[in-house]
Amino acid sequence: MDVKNFNTIPETIPIKKIVKETDTIWTFQFEYNLESKPGQFLMLWIPGVDEKPFSIAYDDGKEFWLTIAKVGSATEELFKLKEGDLIGIRGPFGTHYKWEKGKHLVLLAGGYGAAPLYGLARAAVEDGCKVDFVVGARSEDLLLYEERVSALGSNVTYHAATDDGSKGHEGYNTEILEEIIASKDGEGVSKIYACGPEMMMKRAAEIARDKGIKSELALERYMKCGFGVCGQCCVDETGVCVCKEGTVFDGERALGFSEFGKYHRDSMGKKVEW
Ligand SMILES: Cc1cc2nc3c(=O)[nH]c(=O)nc-3n(C[C@H](O)[C@H](O)[C@H](O)COP(=O)(O)OP(=O)(O)OC[C@H]3O[C@@H](n4cnc5c(N)ncnc54)[C@H](O)[C@@H]3O)c2cc1C
Repeated sequence: MDVKNFNTIPETIPIKKIVKETDTIWTFQFEYNLESKPGQFLMLWIPGVDEKPFSIAYDDGKEFWLTIAKVGSATEELFKLKEGDLIGIRGPFGTHYKWEKGKHLVLLAGGYGAAPLYGLARAAVEDGCKVDFVVGARSEDLLLYEERVSALGSNVTYHAATDDGSKGHEGYNTEILEEIIASKDGEGVSKIYACGPEMMMKRAAEIARDKGIKSELALERYMKCGFGVCGQCCVDETGVCVCKEGTVFDGERALGFSEFGKYHRDSMGKKVEW
C-alpha cells in the first residue's frame, strides 16, 4: 500500500494564509506537497478539538487549499485560528475524478462543492478540456470561486444559479445542466461531475443516466478514520466504505445505493433523512 495513502498519524503544519470567501466560508492555504489528485480529501486535526474530513480544493505540489464552512463546534474552533497556527493533516484519502483529454465536461457544484471541482477544472483545462462550471447557491453572496474559475481561461464558462435570482439563473443549477445538454453544444458533453447537496447530485446523476452521459459524484458521509477501517461511513446493504471506495463514485453506482438521496448517518450511526 502507498505509505502516503495509509497515513494514520497527523503531520503538523502551519496555516500559511486565510482567505475569507464569505463571513462563514474561508479558504485555508498551506505550504506543503500533498501529492493529491482532484476529488480527494484529507482529515484535518484541529488540535485539542476534533479531526474532520475536508475536500482538497487546490494542490500544485507546493501548496494546497481547503475551503471550509463554519457549521458546528469543530469548524467554529478552526475559525478562531490565525495564520501561522498549527493544525494536523492525514491523507490524501479516497478516489479521484477521472477525465479524458480534450473532452467537454460539465461540473455541477452546490455550496463548498465548488472548491474541489475547481481542482478538477484546473487539471482538465490543462488537458485541453472544455469546461462548463455550474454553481448553485441561495444568493449571489454565497456563490464561490467565480473569479478563480473564470481566470482558468476561455475554455471554461462559469454559470451561476441562485434561489433568489440575485445572480444568474433563478432556480436550480441542475436546470442549467439540462439547458447545456439540450443545446447544440451539449451534444458533445462527455461527462458530468457533481459535488454538493446529495439531492442535487442525485438529480444530476439521473439527468446524466437519462441522456446516456457518464457521471461522477462525490458522496459525503460521516467519517472518522478516512481509510476504510472504522466502518463509520459504510453504505447500507453494501459495506462499501465511502472514504475508501469513494468519495468519488460513478453516478450509476451511486444511484444503486438504497440510501443515496434518502438518508445518511450521524456520528452515532443514527439515520438522518436528507
Ligand atoms: C469527504 C468529505 C469532504 C468534505 N469536504 C468539505 C469541504 O471541503 N468543506 C467543508 O466545509 N466541509 C466539508 N465536509 C464536511 C465537514 O467535514 C463537516 O462540515 C465538518 O466536519 C463539520 O464539523 P463541525 O464540528 O464544525 O460541525 P458539526 O456540528 O459536528 O456538524 C455539522 C454538519 O457536518 C456534518 N459532519 C460533522 N462531522 C462530520 C464528519 N466527521 N464527517 C462528515 N460529516 C460530518 C454533520 O453531520 C452535520 O451535518 C466534508 C465532509 C466529507 C465527508
